[in-house]
Amino acid sequence: MNILIINAGSSSLKYQLMNPETGDVSAKGLCERIGIDGRLNHKVGDEKVVKDIPMPTHSEAIAATLEILQDPQYGVIKSVDEIDAVGHRVLHGGMEFFASCVINDDVIAAIKKCIPLGPLHNPANLMGIEACQAVMPKTPQVAVFDTAFHMTMPPKAYRYAIPTEYYENDSIRRYGFHGTSHKYVAKRTAELVGKTEFKMVNCHLGNGSSMAAIKDGKCQDTTMGLSPLAGVPMGTRSGDIDACVVQFICNKYGMSVDDCLNMLNKKSGMLALSGVSSDFRDLEDGAKKGDENCALARDKFCYEVAKYVGAYAAALNGIDVLTFTAGVGENDVNVRAAVCEYLGFMGVKIDPELNSKRGKEMKISTPDSSVEVWVVPTNEELMIAQDTAELVK
Ligand code: AMP
Repeated sequence: MNILIINAGSSSLKYQLMNPETGDVSAKGLCERIGIDGRLNHKVGDEKVVKDIPMPTHSEAIAATLEILQDPQYGVIKSVDEIDAVGHRVLHGGMEFFASCVINDDVIAAIKKCIPLGPLHNPANLMGIEACQAVMPKTPQVAVFDTAFHMTMPPKAYRYAIPTEYYENDSIRRYGFHGTSHKYVAKRTAELVGKTEFKMVNCHLGNGSSMAAIKDGKCQDTTMGLSPLAGVPMGTRSGDIDACVVQFICNKYGMSVDDCLNMLNKKSGMLALSGVSSDFRDLEDGAKKGDENCALARDKFCYEVAKYVGAYAAALNGIDVLTFTAGVGENDVNVRAAVCEYLGFMGVKIDPELNSKRGKEMKISTPDSSVEVWVVPTNEELMIAQDTAELVK
């Protein structure tokens, strides 16, 4: 089977053509500057090609993608008919979607209904879907939601303690994100530890970070909320913050709420604390050279991640497995070491030698650790491809 995976942003569109059984990617690429001028970056094996192609809308981006996939030189298929289905990453499924689903008119209407909850992403995701429907009307399309995995949370985890009318009238509650990644890691971890009934905390630590408390493969709680701003501090996001900070800053500096939220999303987190960069590698370099702000940013991050593991261990009445994934979780050995050191009180022990490896799927805990600690590189695209294949079979 060939599944085309589409991740449409407001001015960009990422694609991969994947075999859902093997996870092999035959081609992938990025259409960027949509609505400005248009550029296609395409990769087959080690070969890369960049083409300037006018892309006034997402339709031209999809058309350019399909054309290069069939190109005699850079293509990997002879006809669009070789694409069995398209899997679209959709940010916000609100309370409408508990799982991935085949797209029809009702699904499109429900994704539109979720626009107030995902005002930046859902319209772009819809443009990607509608562009694909227009150029490949016979190919089934599937929507895979970033929020769906978290829909098994109980009300005590997802309700905010604010007047009920905001929940009932406006669907304001915790949703959580990175659901496709958490789902992939939960599924893969079950294979690695060889059981289906166990309690785990998954730490998806990257530029955006979130954590999930998972019991028997089902999400019980997660750190992100109505939006991806909540939870642990991130590359440029503040993470959890007292709402009065917004009131104080807006009143004192005459800032609008939107501008203040923009500051909390784009100018906060590691970038703000370090004053140097949002990238964990830069922070590590800075800290090694004695920059105290870089060291503080990394300490704060590890401290908050460890605090949530502790909280989720309490929520789940103990955990069996702790997993690290995404750019920082897979590669930053010192973040993993610092987080696990905080958790020593609950018997978490990692082997420094095993933990020194980057980006490898492996167990890094010692045999006598009370909790198995694993690094499980995430693969959201494979999860999207598998969900899509399953639904269209
Ligand atoms: P992601 O958002 O999952 O792509 O993760 C991006 C983050 O991962 C950035 O802050 C990078 O600094 C970090 N990262 C990627 N590779 C490494 C590495 N080898 N060592 C430390 N951090 C890394």
